[in-house]
Amino acid sequence: MPLSTMKRVLLKLSGEVLMGDQQFGIDPAFVMELAKEVKTARETGLEICLVIGGGNIFRGMAGAAQGMDRAQADYMGMLATVMNALAMQSALEQLGVQTRVQSAVQMDQVCEPVIRRRAERHLEKGRIVIFAAGVGAPYFTTDSGAALRAAEMNCDALLKGTSVDGVYDSDPKKNADAKRFETVTYGKVLADDLKVMDASAVALCRDNNIPIVVFSIREKGNLARVLSGEGVQTIVTNEKK
Ligand code: UDP
Repeated sequence: MPLSTMKRVLLKLSGEVLMGDQQFGIDPAFVMELAKEVKTARETGLEICLVIGGGNIFRGMAGAAQGMDRAQADYMGMLATVMNALAMQSALEQLGVQTRVQSAVQMDQVCEPVIRRRAERHLEKGRIVIFAAGVGAPYFTTDSGAALRAAEMNCDALLKGTSVDGVYDSDPKKNADAKRFETVTYGKVLADDLKVMDASAVALCRDNNIPIVVFSIREKGNLARVLSGEGVQTIVTNEKK
């Protein structure tokens, strides 16, 4: 399906993009810039589910590397994603965009639990649904959470907004000759361990035929360009080109 004809997408933003130019945490001004991009996309009539990572605040693996219990550290990471979701909700609502946060770890005072049918209704009403806390289990990441929600919400694509403008055959920051793929298969991503998302997330998208669109969210207006089919991105699909 061409990007410009999609009806519903899941947009995954890594927690790092919420830092803006900071080294840690949330930069409210940059979150506002991101929210404006999301608002513009919403105004085209597109239904949007959002998943935001937590790496700007806490990653379970980092905690485990310093001697913490891995599962405990992962729960802390999940809580970080809820904080990011609330920050994004606040920015979107300041712009007049209706949103609901649904968390996979129940937190009645701050947001809704994940209820698919309710999320469906929110989307029908034009609200943006922000899914927090990944899949709600340790040893997973928000990439897997994004793939899971994209599948259960019948999204036409998973858009992965990161700091790079696509998938390369080697690290573009280290290798000046690195080549960006226009399209690449899930199989190649998995076999060559290309850095797109973690393997379980890629496999879930492959099994459910959900294209993954990798693009840079750091450049202003890029989300709209990608959605109109005029952007720079890599599309991960089952089709060989
Ligand atoms: N996490 C988890 N289960 C999930 C989703 C997230 O345990 O289903 C934890 C995990 O510790 C992870 C952290 O939350 O490191 C933050 O998420 P992630 O690393 O995916 O954030 P991103 O890299 O996208 O900013």
